[in-house]
Amino acid sequence: MTDQTKPDNGSTPARPFGGLKIDFGAAGAAPPGDDSAAPVAAAATPDAAPGDAGPVRAKVLIIGSGPAGLTAAIYAARANLEPFVIAGSAAGGQLMLTSEVENYPGFPDGIDGPDLMGRFRAQAERFGTRFVDLDVDRLDLSTRPFRAWARGVEYQGDALIVATGASALWLNLESEQRLRGHGVSACATCDGFFFRDREIAVVGGGDAALEEASYLTRFATKVHLLHRREGFRASKIMIDRAYGNPRIEIHTSTEIDEVLGDDKVEALRLRDARDGSLRTVPIEGLFIAIGHKPNTDVFRDWLDVDEKGYLVPHVHTGSRIPGVFIAGDVADHRYRQAVTAAGDGARAAIDAERWLEEVAATEPVAALAR
Ligand code: NAP
Repeated sequence: MTDQTKPDNGSTPARPFGGLKIDFGAAGAAPPGDDSAAPVAAAATPDAAPGDAGPVRAKVLIIGSGPAGLTAAIYAARANLEPFVIAGSAAGGQLMLTSEVENYPGFPDGIDGPDLMGRFRAQAERFGTRFVDLDVDRLDLSTRPFRAWARGVEYQGDALIVATGASALWLNLESEQRLRGHGVSACATCDGFFFRDREIAVVGGGDAALEEASYLTRFATKVHLLHRREGFRASKIMIDRAYGNPRIEIHTSTEIDEVLGDDKVEALRLRDARDGSLRTVPIEGLFIAIGHKPNTDVFRDWLDVDEKGYLVPHVHTGSRIPGVFIAGDVADHRYRQAVTAAGDGARAAIDAERWLEEVAATEPVAALAR
């Protein structure tokens, strides 16, 4: 195993994630007493919700506050559409759980995920975007203005942008959750670089796991691919590629019993699914690739979803309801990158602006929020 106390070369961090402080506020898993990494985005609180003041009205209501929702807010705010963002109780999206982001353009030295999202939010706020950090409980998209409720308060929008993202699935072991950002990751593209010359593991048996295992061999000396069954769900070409890669060691019928390590990943205790026997494999990183769940539960009665539960855009970012637009990972299981989600957010805001102009030209102006 590589000595983690020494950098392997001048450019690679000495430890996985480079010893960065990582905010886990969104997951409620911050180390006790460590409030040093509080995100800028934590500035607005549920207290921003009005009490008895009646519904909150916006020209553009945005649900979700990852790169897609916040970019939509920046564009909508600069178009004088006075957006209101229902940001979710875990505001900021998946990047709030990411350490250093090195592939977002404009940050040649990389940037912490929470820091990046704090900047997105500050930029949206600078142009007047209002926020509430709550989850939407209920929707009514049958008439305009579109209506959403969060903790009993009604929010209305002449146009609506849905940008609620998708969440990575986790094994839900206590040790896995504790070591997220300390060697446990759900994003090989984001964090693979930190494991140069290390021995690591990937869990999962679908295309994502096999693709990530192959990708991670660019950095790691060895990748253990762990799958709970004998047969893979992944496509044959991906399976053949993994078996043909000398840096990948495949362990089928293998479950993770525990991730071992106090403040960083040091090993995995594995269970043989056939006979229950346990063994320990020393590794320094664990990538979870067991699928994603799109955050679409409240939209399913209103918008089209595909067989995996992702929203289906119609023309451009539009949905089957005129005036409701879709942006980011909530409709994307292919790219799932901050930069692609941000691009989607810009597209959705531009589509919403154009749609509102068309509506204003054909419907009484009084019907629209002033
Ligand atoms: P997936 O196809 O649903 O596979 C998830 C894998 O994780 C399955 O093998 C499953 O095991 C395993 N798993 C689920 N829960 C688990 C748990 N609690 N513990 C251990 N293992 C668990 O998801 P995906 O790989 O993210 O792919 C999603 C979709 O994107 C698929 O349609 C895929 O084809 C596509 N995709 C395509 C590419 C590509 O073509 N290049 C790349 C990535 C993704 P079981 O098999 O036992 O259920």
